[in-house]
Amino acid sequence: MKSSVASTKKYCNSLVQYSRRKTIPVQVGDVVIGGNNPIVVQSMTTIDTMDTMGSVEQTLRMVEAGCEIVRITAPSLKEAENLRAIRDELRKRGCNVPLVADIHFTPNAAELAAQIVEKVRVNPGNYADKKRFENIEYTDETYEAELDRIRKRFTPLVELCKAHGTAMRIGTNHGSLSDRIMSRYGDTALGMVESALEFLRICEDLSYDQIVISMKSSNAQVMVEAYRLLVNKLEEEGLKPYPLHLGVTEAGEAEDGRIKSAVGIGTLLEDGLGDTVRVSLTEEPELEAPVARKLVDRYATRSSHNEIKSIGESPIDPFAYHKRGTREIVNIGATNVPRVIADFSQLENVGIKDLKSIGHFYLPEPDKWTMNDQGADFVYSGSQVIPFMLPNGIRSLIDYPVWNSLEDKKNRHPVYSLKQLQAAEQCDDTLNFLKLSADDLDDETMAILEADNLTVLLEANNAHKMPALRRFFFELEKRGLKVPVIITNNYQVKDEEQFLIDASTDIGGLLVDGFGDGVMLSAHSSDDLDRLKLKNQTAFGILQAGRTRMTKTEYISCPSCGRTLFDLQETTAKIRKRTDHLKGVKIGIMGCIVNGPGEMADADFGYVGSGKGKITLYKGQDVVKRGVPSEHAVDELIEIIRADGKWMEPQAVEF
Ligand code: SF4
Repeated sequence: MKSSVASTKKYCNSLVQYSRRKTIPVQVGDVVIGGNNPIVVQSMTTIDTMDTMGSVEQTLRMVEAGCEIVRITAPSLKEAENLRAIRDELRKRGCNVPLVADIHFTPNAAELAAQIVEKVRVNPGNYADKKRFENIEYTDETYEAELDRIRKRFTPLVELCKAHGTAMRIGTNHGSLSDRIMSRYGDTALGMVESALEFLRICEDLSYDQIVISMKSSNAQVMVEAYRLLVNKLEEEGLKPYPLHLGVTEAGEAEDGRIKSAVGIGTLLEDGLGDTVRVSLTEEPELEAPVARKLVDRYATRSSHNEIKSIGESPIDPFAYHKRGTREIVNIGATNVPRVIADFSQLENVGIKDLKSIGHFYLPEPDKWTMNDQGADFVYSGSQVIPFMLPNGIRSLIDYPVWNSLEDKKNRHPVYSLKQLQAAEQCDDTLNFLKLSADDLDDETMAILEADNLTVLLEANNAHKMPALRRFFFELEKRGLKVPVIITNNYQVKDEEQFLIDASTDIGGLLVDGFGDGVMLSAHSSDDLDRLKLKNQTAFGILQAGRTRMTKTEYISCPSCGRTLFDLQETTAKIRKRTDHLKGVKIGIMGCIVNGPGEMADADFGYVGSGKGKITLYKGQDVVKRGVPSEHAVDELIEIIRADGKWMEPQAVEF
């Protein structure tokens, strides 16, 4: 049953059987990351590190919420020193949670912290380098000289960690790669991996291996590729299998933050990667651990899932995004954005007002229909016929026996089971839907998929859902079949947060590999209109997090930490209120100018704290206005968006 993955593409034990990657154990105080140990949940404080009691109280709340390791920022020596007071107070109160010092730019703070706390996190992009956004031409000799310089700067920290039994995380961030890495590798997954390997090779030379590695990005696609490539390169170079710390940076808040985290982190967990997880939300830090726990607990009994047919070799490149090529049928497949199908099959007597739950609105004044950015493209009504004309170009999907008996078939398309299609008297000239299970991999079924005008509604009845669905896509790729596929999962929503995590992981993991021409989150018999609304919004949210269909403004907001210069939650809410109609625009909201500009990586515009009550505004990576008083900064940001031609006036569409 085990799948062998060609070594050039290998990044996990198996693509079809859940199996955790075997890593070396790393001792962090009383907690062990990696080895045969359960996946560890961790998080980071947001309070000023100099506020000892505030940090202690917040840490205790985080531990109470399930956090097993707590990270605290140490921007300079004085904060590193204050970690001692925080640690001592926690121990006095009976809390032994291991502490991690978060370091950027300040080796002296790292060296002090390594003697106080159980783990130190360094960012190889800025440990020994100042980022100047310069593109320098390096010869092999000058590059080697740079590596030598880093070795000299980094060795004292490694020696201190060895002497004090302190663990280390080499934490690469997509947004803060050094100018040296950028010049040679560009802004790529390989650049991220190489950034960590430069530091790792030094540690191995010094016989130090208590290391955890991370490859974070706010772009889930980039993050997944980088982690996979890291595992591949570790093996290729004969380096030890170090444990992985998984995280999506600047994921944001509320549903968007949860969906984005699950798409990135969940996709890797599905393939058995990851030994510790941190979910970063722009919310109170004690809200992060429960989300991480829900992500991790999905794998507690995963190994006993139903068998998935083995696959010799992955037919795709797991380290680079390629959209699967499909044929266009009406507005599905090829270069069309992935479509969203709303499922009304469980609703009795569908009325025109019910369409509001899926983003379509009737405006009595001026008597016309409109839709918001999350208006579903199709409605599946099962064995019912929707008794009115659907507005805004929505088409309906109806079960074949009922569709077959209809006189008026305009914009109505049949949904068949395999048996029904094989026995069908007639098919639609333009668009037909075939329900398949991910196990339907036999030659006869595959031959049917060569037909024009056919789209698959694919679901998997397997606890290892994403890999089961992916196996089906692999089969299509191997056979060169271009049939479009809508991913069709059914969830009973008992806990909204768990639902967001489950759906985002199961579907997002496919989107990041370029699979899926649409999503239908099928209706459960218990779903009311509120649930259908949630499912519709979640479908659009997952497509956005997978960067396959942008329908909302994207906020790349940092989770905040002891460096934060303004109230991130309040400011994010303020900016969101004014800009959340700007479809597809990416706005970075960063608490400090030290890391913010780098961390917001691919944001179109940036709002970055640069002093008490002062904001610096960016267009891409370029500063447009410095030191703007915070009370005017949102207006100024909007002016910058307007000057760039990306501003639109908001329209009232709800009634
Ligand atoms: S960008 Fe935000 S989370 Fe990162 S260091 Fe600055 S304030 Fe802290």
